Amino acid sequence: MSCGIHYLASVFMAVTPKFVCSIPGNVSSVLYYNSSASSIEDVWTLWTSTDNYIVAQMENGEIWELNQCSRSRREGSLDLAYEYNGNKSVFSCSHGYIYDHTKWTSTIVTEWDLVCKREWLAKLTQPTFMLGVLIGAVIFGDIADRMGRRHIMWFTSIGQFLFGIVVAFTFDYYSFVVARFLLAMVSSGYLVVVFVYVTEYVGIKVRTWASMHVHAFFALGVMVVALVGFLVRTWWVYQIFLSITTLPFVLCCWMLPETPFWLLSVGRYEEAQKVINIMARWNKVSTPCKISELCSIQQDALVSSRTGDNDVSTTKKHNILDLFCNRYIARRTITVWLIWFTGSLGYYVFSLSSVNLGGNEYLNLFLIGVVELPSYVIACIGMDKLGRRNTLIPSLISSALICVLIMLIPQDFNALIILANMAGKFTIGVAFGLIYLYTAELYPTIVRSLAVGSGSMMCRVGSVVAPFCVYLTSIWIFMPLSMSKPRIAVIGAGLIGLSAAVCISETIPTCSVTIISDEFTPNTTSDVAAGMLIPHTYPGTPIYQQKQWFKETFDYLFAINNSSEAPSAGISLVSGWQIFKTSSSAELPFWSDIVLGFRAMTEMELKKFPQYRFGQAFTTLKCDCPSYLLWLEKRLKGNGGEVHAKRIANLWDLQNNYDIVVNCTGIGSRQLIGDLKIYPVRGQVLKVHAPWLNHFIRDGDGLSYIYPGIHNVTLGGTREKGSWNLSPDPNISKDIFDKCCALEPSLQKAQDIKVRVGLRPSRLAVRLQKEILVQGEKKLPVVHNYGHGSGGFSMHWGTAKEAARLVGECIATLQDSLSKAKL
Ligand code: FAD
Repeated sequence: MSCGIHYLASVFMAVTPKFVCSIPGNVSSVLYYNSSASSIEDVWTLWTSTDNYIVAQMENGEIWELNQCSRSRREGSLDLAYEYNGNKSVFSCSHGYIYDHTKWTSTIVTEWDLVCKREWLAKLTQPTFMLGVLIGAVIFGDIADRMGRRHIMWFTSIGQFLFGIVVAFTFDYYSFVVARFLLAMVSSGYLVVVFVYVTEYVGIKVRTWASMHVHAFFALGVMVVALVGFLVRTWWVYQIFLSITTLPFVLCCWMLPETPFWLLSVGRYEEAQKVINIMARWNKVSTPCKISELCSIQQDALVSSRTGDNDVSTTKKHNILDLFCNRYIARRTITVWLIWFTGSLGYYVFSLSSVNLGGNEYLNLFLIGVVELPSYVIACIGMDKLGRRNTLIPSLISSALICVLIMLIPQDFNALIILANMAGKFTIGVAFGLIYLYTAELYPTIVRSLAVGSGSMMCRVGSVVAPFCVYLTSIWIFMPLSMSKPRIAVIGAGLIGLSAAVCISETIPTCSVTIISDEFTPNTTSDVAAGMLIPHTYPGTPIYQQKQWFKETFDYLFAINNSSEAPSAGISLVSGWQIFKTSSSAELPFWSDIVLGFRAMTEMELKKFPQYRFGQAFTTLKCDCPSYLLWLEKRLKGNGGEVHAKRIANLWDLQNNYDIVVNCTGIGSRQLIGDLKIYPVRGQVLKVHAPWLNHFIRDGDGLSYIYPGIHNVTLGGTREKGSWNLSPDPNISKDIFDKCCALEPSLQKAQDIKVRVGLRPSRLAVRLQKEILVQGEKKLPVVHNYGHGSGGFSMHWGTAKEAARLVGECIATLQDSLSKAKL
């Protein structure tokens, strides 16, 4: 029991709670998305994704973004907002870390900052312990044969208690590891000797059950860990409590006599006879057996061979090569070794990882211990009734099948995962329990101890490897069935939704993409737009970012324009002029080197616009809607994408059917996710038939423009901030027409004039960001891509690429967390 306690103690001692980089000074307020608090401790419950940062405002006004392994100070902004696209200075965590102490007051991770670059040190604690177990088993097994079971039991049990206490008082990580290593050595020596002791004390008849008792009490120790972990949340107090729990066993050891087998093996016949006589008295046997009889039993000493460390019956020295003396025996040895290794690996992986399964970690570990008890009962009954092999084979096969099953259970099915883990522990428990006895029986007496000893060695290798397997889940990314095709829902069938959906389906071909929208072309804002690639500046988005998005969009459309797809996609190159009444308002725009042939207008060109003093001439691209939207939709369907007509009232409605949601609802985001930073800028335009026009004209103020496209000419326009009115205003239409005619008199002959009104989804900055929505145990990754205002066409492909990248990150995170539920 005390071995079970110490072997598994690290599961709660080396836990890494939530943490972020610490900052010098006093925090005045904290922000996590829309939730604010006065201290970082208050936001831990909301902070669910380690990818997200916490924003903290200091008393001196500085604003910091706190990540797990770095912190950044916002430069030039004193507004406490979650999103920020300006300059930041990034710093390392030189002031340590802030930990979430709600669950664990202190663990060795929080005590010695075993996170970020030092994370591997925390991960080494269990493997180094298991290494100690391996070495201890070899050393103490051997010494127990020489010095007797009793002395080693005294020594190791006292050692276990003392080193257990010493561990609690270690002052740094290294002394902790050394103390735990010594603790592991004595604990494993204790376990080996106790096993030998118990089996040497009972007759062959009940040996199976007796050996199973040792295993069962080990499982009780695991349950004690769960209980103490639940009650005590400070690692060193927890360690002291665990060590004190072992005290009664230490005291009991002194009462136990030496085993008669060992006394016989060293020729202390009289003492052996005395013990036999006591045993006879206890068993109410009137005629105790004689030493001579015991000697004959010793020849058949199953007991000693079972432990592998105390075979004293052989006279000739045998070595490991005897286990490979012929093909038949070699095959048997390799099989047995594999079973030892698998049994131990499975046993420790199931036990150690039980705390990562979600739900209540203490209950999980407790149940993982409980489930061992029936497994030993079944192992005993199975061994007696069905035989060793017929019990071992089904238990190994079913534990393998359960492992496969666990890989396929979606991460959200917490209860099912825990149940499957318990079933796995149960089946591996049966195999692990009986392999001791089975190995002993599979080999002749002369190499029996060698066989069990080497098997036990393989078992230790399994237990050293096991913690790494548990840690491997954080880097081992694979796709179980439930995620074989991540399901992406893109909400919104405007330009931004369609382009994001196409980009995702092309960059991540392994996922399925579905567009869900209440309106489609020709009824979206995107259908109203002129579709010119002339960017507007977003004040909250860095210029380099806007330039990159524009360039990516321009290059993408330019390639389409140069292909045979151009007419069906509605893409055309168009040259023209941007004119200004004063030269001072004509700054060189950030996009001047991206459009083609950007230059100042010549005197000759300016003569066409007598009211204007200055102008810029360039060639850019234009998308005709709805042609372009229809083309994008066709392309999406060609990639296997689907389109559904539906209004989404709540993003959580999509959680059951989709893994990731991409929000491209434009102005709809105000209602859907309650983003009050987005507002409408009403735009009224005229779509006219004037095929003779082939140059664009744009007043530098952006209010009057003539944009010729493949199918019609767009005349604009208006910019009414905050207006939700979608009804055309005839006065505005007349005003637009008059202004455009002043710029291009030939427009008087324009025909088929249609009025369109659209609401530009405007925001200080485009919101292009991941967010993990959390509801209880459920999580829904969302990628936001909205707020393109007056420049959606100019930026759409650049932002679609970024959205696709963020979706890729979400998929990786999902797979990562899914794999964490796997063993
Ligand atoms: P939308 O086209 O409005 O699409 C949003 C989609 O989301 C719609 O399909 C809607 O039905 C759906 N949706 C919303 N809420 C929900 C919900 N709850 N459930 C389901 N579906 C939902 N930009 C340029 O670059 N160049 C220009 O020349 C230009 N000219 C313009 C002229 C005018 C008059 C206007 C109004 C805009 C202009 N723009 C221009 C801007 C450009 O049109 C927008 O930036 C772009 O169309 C925004 O696209 P979107 O997909 O985000 O929005």
